[in-house]
Amino acid sequence: MSENIIRCNWPNLNKSQIYTQYHDNEWGVASYDDSYLFEMFVLESFHCGLSWLIILKKREAFKIAFDNFDYNKIANYDENKVLQLLDNSDIVRSKAKINATITNAQAFIKIINEYGSFCNYIWGFTNNQVIYAKSDEFYSKNELSDKIALDLKKRGFKFMGSVTTYSYLEAIGILNNHTSMCFKYDKHKVEGK
Ligand SMILES: [Zn+2]
Repeated sequence: MSENIIRCNWPNLNKSQIYTQYHDNEWGVASYDDSYLFEMFVLESFHCGLSWLIILKKREAFKIAFDNFDYNKIANYDENKVLQLLDNSDIVRSKAKINATITNAQAFIKIINEYGSFCNYIWGFTNNQVIYAKSDEFYSKNELSDKIALDLKKRGFKFMGSVTTYSYLEAIGILNNHTSMCFKYDKHKVEGK
């Protein structure tokens, strides 16, 4: 990794390679894969109230604990599995968030049954368009995240308020918020629209 690379500010706030790698390789990359869309959904719901770095550091442990983020398996977790997860010090041991993950897996499957895929549902909010940031200003939520968070809530999802949803939309690349000095900034795309 070259030290001359100029990035958005947030990955530089600490010297963690896991953070810069996430920024360089995943953040803002458009994803259309339901497995990845669910993985980020779970991680973002656990992110709520904690730093993203904590979540990234625990990501592999989450992956093992939650059956590779298999929503079909998670939707059927029973009380024993919840107790087992609560006993796992490698993940975030919040009973409310663990239960929410089960509820969210069930709601995720309902959406797949209704729309054919979660991808169709979530990208439908922007007619499959990536929304590029028009300035370097920082926002923690916007009209789009308000709208999606409200719809998610109506569908029974937990821990996905507008701020978490905004962060999720950045993670899966519906919102592309790389700042203008960042090497990942796509000047052509921003100006082209
Ligand atoms: Zn960036």
